Amino acid sequence: MNNPQRLGLLFFKTTLLSLLVAGTGIGILYRLALKAYQAELVAALDAPLQALAADPAVAIQTFKTQGTATPDPDAPEQFLIVGRQDGEAVSISLDQTNGDDGAEPPAVLTQAIAGESGTATDWSTISAYAPVPDQSGWGVVLQTQQREFSSSYLQVAMITIIVAILLNAIGTAIYWLINRASVRQLTRSEARHRTIVEHAPEGVITINEKAKIETFNPAAAAMFGYSEKQVIGQGIDSLMLAFADGEVEAALFGTAATAPPTTAQNSTQIQTVPAAALSPMTTTKRELMGQRQDGSIFPVELAVSRLTMGKTKRYLLMVRDISDRKQIEETLRKRNDELELRVEERTNQLTHLNEELLHEIAERNNAEETLQEMEKRFRTLFNQSEVGVLQTSATGQILSVNTRLLDLLDYTEAELQAQTFQDITYPDDLGVVVSQFRQLIAGDIPDLCVEQRYLCKDGGQVWVQVSGSVVRDLAGDVEYFLGVVEDISDRVSTQAALAASESTLSSFFNSTSMMMGVIEVVDDDIRHLSDNAVSSEFFRLSPVTMHNQTASAMGVPEDIRRYWIDHCLESDRQGSPVQFEYTYEPDYDTNNGVAVRWLAATVCSIPGQGKYSYMVEDVTEQRAQAEALRRANAQLESSTVQLNAHRREMDKLAELNDYLQASRSLSDAHDAIAELVGPLFPDCSGAVFLCNDAGNLLEALTTWGDHFNSEPIFAPEDSWAIRRNRTHWVDHEHPRLLSKHIHREPLPAECLSIPMIAQDSLQGMLYLTSPQAGVLTDGKRSFAQTVAEQLAASLANVKLGSNLKIDRVHDALTGLFNRRYLEEALEREIYSAARQQRTIGLILLDIDHFRQFNNTFGHEAGDVVLRSLGGFLSRTLHNNDIAGRYGGEEMVVILPNAAFDDIRSRAQQLLDGVKQLHCEHANQHLDPITVSIGVAIFPENGMTWQSLCQSAEMAVSRAKVEGRDRICMIDGDTPR
Ligand code: GH3
Ligand code: MG
Ligand code: MG
Repeated sequence: MNNPQRLGLLFFKTTLLSLLVAGTGIGILYRLALKAYQAELVAALDAPLQALAADPAVAIQTFKTQGTATPDPDAPEQFLIVGRQDGEAVSISLDQTNGDDGAEPPAVLTQAIAGESGTATDWSTISAYAPVPDQSGWGVVLQTQQREFSSSYLQVAMITIIVAILLNAIGTAIYWLINRASVRQLTRSEARHRTIVEHAPEGVITINEKAKIETFNPAAAAMFGYSEKQVIGQGIDSLMLAFADGEVEAALFGTAATAPPTTAQNSTQIQTVPAAALSPMTTTKRELMGQRQDGSIFPVELAVSRLTMGKTKRYLLMVRDISDRKQIEETLRKRNDELELRVEERTNQLTHLNEELLHEIAERNNAEETLQEMEKRFRTLFNQSEVGVLQTSATGQILSVNTRLLDLLDYTEAELQAQTFQDITYPDDLGVVVSQFRQLIAGDIPDLCVEQRYLCKDGGQVWVQVSGSVVRDLAGDVEYFLGVVEDISDRVSTQAALAASESTLSSFFNSTSMMMGVIEVVDDDIRHLSDNAVSSEFFRLSPVTMHNQTASAMGVPEDIRRYWIDHCLESDRQGSPVQFEYTYEPDYDTNNGVAVRWLAATVCSIPGQGKYSYMVEDVTEQRAQAEALRRANAQLESSTVQLNAHRREMDKLAELNDYLQASRSLSDAHDAIAELVGPLFPDCSGAVFLCNDAGNLLEALTTWGDHFNSEPIFAPEDSWAIRRNRTHWVDHEHPRLLSKHIHREPLPAECLSIPMIAQDSLQGMLYLTSPQAGVLTDGKRSFAQTVAEQLAASLANVKLGSNLKIDRVHDALTGLFNRRYLEEALEREIYSAARQQRTIGLILLDIDHFRQFNNTFGHEAGDVVLRSLGGFLSRTLHNNDIAGRYGGEEMVVILPNAAFDDIRSRAQQLLDGVKQLHCEHANQHLDPITVSIGVAIFPENGMTWQSLCQSAEMAVSRAKVEGRDRICMIDGDTPR
């Protein structure tokens, strides 16, 4: 800030302060005076109040006459305002402020009329107000104009302001005059310093607290390549790398070190001094990296001083480019390092050579010791070895042997030393042994290794493995042969046993009818390692071709390979054989008509080898036989089931027949059909329809099943079966051929209608239906046909029977058999009795004078007597007796196989019994009757039924003649 500005600001500040002090004082004085004046107004109001309390009208008149109520002519003028409540409004009775009684009443008057009292001040007036005592609704206000009261205070304030401004202007001018000299001195000093700075050989930079550059001399400009204009106001960090971020003092002086500042030190290390330890003018040196405008980096030495000017901090930086010095220092340091390195290398070499020398000496000592130790061990080994050791000359002369070999061959050492190794070699093995030995001596082979037999002293042989080599001297001549002799007789015998076992296994392997072999799993395939002849033959390959062949290459399908691999892995997991079966279809077999083979396989993991043994048996034949057996069994079972079902059906049919045969009436027959036909067809729904007497309707007698689907009554022409007069079969493929009486919703799968025809007349129709196809089999349909025929015949018979039986057999009045039946029966009995030589008694009764009886009692009474007589005869009959009406008033009793005496006593019994009959008619006792009896006996009185009857008639005639009420025979010998 320049000088005039500072002076202006000083003047403004002091003037403002003076005005504030004076204004506050005047304000306080005004407030105090106002309080006092308000009290004065209240006191002045007292007199008008009392006048108004006495008589408002008089008082107002007086006030109007007197004018304003100001007691002191110098004091502000005071005005009275009197008003009262006039209805809802306030009416002013007196207003000295403007004399207009009709003006708008002031707010304080309204408060006074309302009974309040006090003082009030606003911008224009100062008032005291109160209600008029003893005068209700009256109020009075004493008022002064504010401007009159405050005008004196405003004048004082204005004078104070003018005085304050003048005094401050004078003070400021005096201050300016006093300071002007020292400012000039400072300006000159500043120009002097500026010249020094600008011509200084080192870079001079000053920065403020915010590290902004304030001074930048030409030397600094030359050093950093910037002009002064470019850097003034910029941050020092644009020139020095260490100044990025952070506190200015921390960047300038550093914060880490605690060592005291060493201002004169000229070191390569960066000197850091804690900022707090620096006095305001302490100078410290630092080495930093500077950055030129072109971006190049160079080392600088920095002398930093803190300049404290009042509260403001500034920093003086003396900057020197130390690139050259740094370069020289670096060269010196490098040369020193190289020298140190060379000295160290040379020292290391010497140390290493010394260590090698010492090591060599130690090794030589060790080698000697080891040699001696080995020699000792060798000796011990030689003699205590578990294997034999043999030393011979180049010609084979035995030089030395160890104890183990002596024991093995049962020789003494001296005995062996007198022989060559050829002497103790089994003659058959000599060729091989000597050949190898020669090659070894000649140097053609490095070592010798033969399996051979040695001859023991007792002439026996022992299998040994000899391995060894020759020891040569420096000239290369053979000094001796040293061999190790190992007893391998156990191994050889084991091998022989193994070979025998293998041979056995091999013969088993190749002679079995099963496929066998060894395989391994390779990725997703199976490799055949060894297979027997049966196996290779199965694949139409030779065992050699099959070796190492993969299953995929042999044409085995992937799914079967996968199946095998899964079972191989299962065997791995279980550690035991795994069995499985599968079908295989070899290409070559299709021509033979045996397309699919059933194979039963077993795989077993071979532990530790990753291989699997397998056995496969072709079980196609067994499978085929088992399958045939299973089919035969199933067929047998099915036949048995069918047979049982058929038997049950026939039993039920027989039961139905029994009932129909035993039926005495159509009603019985219908009951039997309704009960027994449905259960014959439990698998389907159905009905038995019967034809009515007129033959124009078919009506369901019985229906059954959940799927019955026909009208219960229909006309014959609504059925194809009735119209065509033959069995009608419709399945779901021909729904349009369904008869009309069958419902279409839902459409039945099967319908069978069979007309029931017997004796050329239609009895009805059997109807069967099923919602599923295949229920009404051929067998069921044929059974239904039988049932329908049976029903037709039975119904026809029952109808016929019920029509004819009463007419043909029985007498309607007496209930006894009729004449025709009696004749047939008698003929049958005579035929039978003749063959068995039995007798037959024939008793013929004729009522005496019955015409007369009718005439006396009437015909109806006669009928009563005849009915009574019939009942009497029926009651007296024995087991095989037959009683009948012979005609009119004549009755017959046939006694098959009865002796003469029996016949006579039976006739007598009848004669007597008739007389005992009591009959009534129309409340009238009828006269008892008598009968004349004629007896005829087979064969005496006739050989045929006609002649026998004739004899009986003749006997009756005789009884009539002889007086009636008696028994007679034709030969006259009355059996009395
Ligand atoms: P008699 O045999 O003793 O010589 O005399 P009779 O009157 O019984 O013999 P006759 O043969 O002359 O008459 C038979 C009578 O039996 C005639 C007939 O009216 C009577 N008669 C035959 N059938 C019936 C019948 O069904 N009901 C009745 N009420 N009378 C019958
Ligand atoms: Mg008669
Ligand atoms: Mg008679």
